[in-house]
Amino acid sequence: MKTVNPLHRFSLRSPYASVSTGRKGWRGEGDSRAIVSPVDGGKLGEVKVATSIDLNKVIQSARIASKIWMDKPAPERGDIVRQIGNAFRNHKEDLGYLISYEMGKSLQESWGEVQEVIDICDFAVGLSRQLYGLTMHSERADHRMYEQWHPLGLVGIISAFNFPVAVWAWNAMISLVCGNVCIWKPSEKTPFSALACQHIIQEVLEDNDLPEGLINLIIGDRRIGAALASNPAIDLISATGSTVMGKQVAQSVAARLGKSLLELGGNNAIIITPDADLQLAIPAIVFGAVGTSGQRCTSTRRLIIHKDIYPTVVEKLITAYHQIKIGSPLDINNHMGPLIDVHAVEKYKSAIHQAQLQKGKVLTGNEVLSGHEYHSGCYVRPTLIQIPSHAPIVQEETFAPILYLLTYHSLEEAIEIQNEVKQGLSSAIFTLNMREAETFLSHRGSDCGIANVNIGTSGAEIGGAFGGEKETGGGRESGSDSWKAYMRRQTCTSNWSKKLPLAQGIKFNL
Ligand code: NAD
Repeated sequence: MKTVNPLHRFSLRSPYASVSTGRKGWRGEGDSRAIVSPVDGGKLGEVKVATSIDLNKVIQSARIASKIWMDKPAPERGDIVRQIGNAFRNHKEDLGYLISYEMGKSLQESWGEVQEVIDICDFAVGLSRQLYGLTMHSERADHRMYEQWHPLGLVGIISAFNFPVAVWAWNAMISLVCGNVCIWKPSEKTPFSALACQHIIQEVLEDNDLPEGLINLIIGDRRIGAALASNPAIDLISATGSTVMGKQVAQSVAARLGKSLLELGGNNAIIITPDADLQLAIPAIVFGAVGTSGQRCTSTRRLIIHKDIYPTVVEKLITAYHQIKIGSPLDINNHMGPLIDVHAVEKYKSAIHQAQLQKGKVLTGNEVLSGHEYHSGCYVRPTLIQIPSHAPIVQEETFAPILYLLTYHSLEEAIEIQNEVKQGLSSAIFTLNMREAETFLSHRGSDCGIANVNIGTSGAEIGGAFGGEKETGGGRESGSDSWKAYMRRQTCTSNWSKKLPLAQGIKFNL
């Protein structure tokens, strides 16, 4: 049965079934690009990509909006974000359906993604009254010293296909309350989800008489992303995607001494110790490796299992893997949908082939599914591979449901294996042994930005700072004090004495 194109199915459809340059804050005068669903190969529609002329127009209109927006008190900006959150509440179901169809993740996960947009709006509203600076005691009498935070100006957001809307919202909503105007370059693979967000927000802008240039979208591939990154008008580039992309963006932004915030690839591991509660561990592993078809930056890619429990864990995992239902993500009975496109399927096949050449043994999986339900060619079977930890393929992030099973003898060795990859995003240990857990969380433990005990690697809450170390890029987004990346710090000293004392007691008598 062919799935009904969500653009013809729900209330958001009409404005963007066919998209060209519009009044709604996105631009595109370049070539048309057809967007095809990985779910059933159906065509969602066509979008026109942005040219460099379009980008310049967007930047101009964003600059005008920026002046108006910066002048608003932060709590007033927060009120607009509150309304944006409510608009997303109203469109949660439709938008979730569109994300599922365009990207291929399950409906549950897509609705969860829209919920993250709503949650970050709520977080940002509270934050709009808490953009605190510190005060310090001046070493000079009758002087007041403090720091304050000002908006940066224009923020460019480059996002990946696997979270078509949530990662943008993490950046955009925090950035908006901080007083910035954002220009979003979504993945070229998921432009319709981005366009839907643009429409949802447009309702709020119109209701509040706000300029169109406050929320901006440019659609296109890496070329327009690179043009955005190198443009000196953009005060901060927040880029989410592969490490290859991050290295290019980092160099381009650094060359103009701009600011960048990077959220790049992961190669996340779970350590399973003999003291693990396997009732918790097995579902966490399976969700981490198979959820979103292994296409999360936090997906579990390596399992480091103590040798004594290795046979038990493997047996339980194989049983669980055989129960996974693969099919349309729009059917909530299925656990796993398709990969994003046939190129991703090729990468899945190639990684398994390389693993086999590197002494890897496939325990289950290694199959591209065929037949009526799978005719888009993007469905694969999740795969377990037993392999030595030093195999080169294990060091790489393959964006597919492939889980490498590794063994260890001592906790020290397990942590060493966990940390030896180039990426440093998410990590976890399953143990009920307090010493093991605390060692893992100590400076001698995980070197990742996220370290969990008795929770898998995938799925983070918006309240914490999200991001990773090493080749994951070092950036932090979302909760905690991540907002500081979207503002400029100013240290101010005010002299209300009748003298001009110099710092460090320096005398300069005239
Ligand atoms: P990708 O790197 O191919 O593309 C990501 C975005 O960058 C897209 O919008 C793309 O058009 C743009 N882009 C690519 N090259 C560019 C360049 N040279 N200059 C400017 N823009 C450029 O990644 P993808 O396949 O869409 O997503 C998967 C990757 O994203 C994985 O590596 C995954 O781990 C990572 N990711 C990381 C996080 C995180 O928070 N750490 C979150 C989601 C995804």
